Amino acid sequence: MQEKATSLGVSLRPHIKTHKCLEIAKRQIEAGAKGITVSTFYEAELFVRNGFNDILWAFPLPLIYIDLVLELVKQATIRVTIDNELAFKALINSYKEKEKKLPVWVEIDVGEHRSGIQFDSEIIIELVSKIAESPFLYFDGILTHGGHSYRSRSREELISAAIDERDRMLELAHRIYKTGIKNFNISIGSTPSMSVATDLLGITEIRPGNYVFNDFTQVVLGSCSLNECALTVLSSIISHQDNAQHFIIDAGALALSKDIGPLYLHPNSYGLIYKNYRNKILRDNVTISNLSQELGIVKFLENEELENRFQIGEKIRILENHSCLTAAQFDYYYVVLGDEIVDKWKIHRGRY
Ligand code: PLP
Repeated sequence: MQEKATSLGVSLRPHIKTHKCLEIAKRQIEAGAKGITVSTFYEAELFVRNGFNDILWAFPLPLIYIDLVLELVKQATIRVTIDNELAFKALINSYKEKEKKLPVWVEIDVGEHRSGIQFDSEIIIELVSKIAESPFLYFDGILTHGGHSYRSRSREELISAAIDERDRMLELAHRIYKTGIKNFNISIGSTPSMSVATDLLGITEIRPGNYVFNDFTQVVLGSCSLNECALTVLSSIISHQDNAQHFIIDAGALALSKDIGPLYLHPNSYGLIYKNYRNKILRDNVTISNLSQELGIVKFLENEELENRFQIGEKIRILENHSCLTAAQFDYYYVVLGDEIVDKWKIHRGRY
């Protein structure tokens, strides 16, 4: 992703919510990332404490955290995001440092319809102008997450979502330039939309996160190949009863998450099981059909004889539907080279 960002002339500010791991973020910075993106105050504080000094909190600012953020800005550059007037008012009522203006971003909705102001709304211009005129804040940029790319049903739809994400932000930037406000960032990016981006002229930075591991959802969307999936869950068979067409593994919702994956493109399964991990071949005849807290039910799609094909104790390697949610259930990554564990990295998954 760094090579892609560099070749397309944009900065990369990876979203670290995917891995929540200092060792991985350090490698992303060493590879050329400009800074990091976070989604919680816990992540912001943890990464500041560990020497990261350029952080974009790309999340509509929860008003309850304003006092904590304003303490943290004394130690590092924390760029906050708002998408409404109330948050703007709360900021100007709380922050009065003329010497060190607070960098404020405005979140835009280009099609995901989650948070952010609709890209063609006049409210954006009003809010941006108010930020730019404030003696204590400065308007640092517009950002969007092209999350509607996850709803693509074909490569054409994915490319069109990526083009919308870029073009709607560029059109908006031109509307802002016309007011006389210049020199701000234009930040876009989801993993699927960035996987198909070939021209980002005018954009200043991208913020994908999931790409660092990828997962089954990205494979199905066509963002990556199976060879480019870095995170798997290693579980084992713990129960199989006579005549049952299923067996039980010790990976449940608290390992795989209840993310159903790209249901409209693939039959429901809470992750896929590898037939041969070395050659990256998945089984197509089994499904992880249900999960309880710590158990997973693995079912055969056709009535096949299970006996002697899977043994209690046998290891089952799973490609998860959503690596961000899976990683957030564990305390450590086991870093492997071939079959050897070469390191163990902490996953900082706390919250306030
Ligand atoms: N930026 C924001 C605001 C996000 O919410 C996300 C993911 O949810 C990202 C960037 C990273 O996108 P992805 O996980 O598709 O790489």
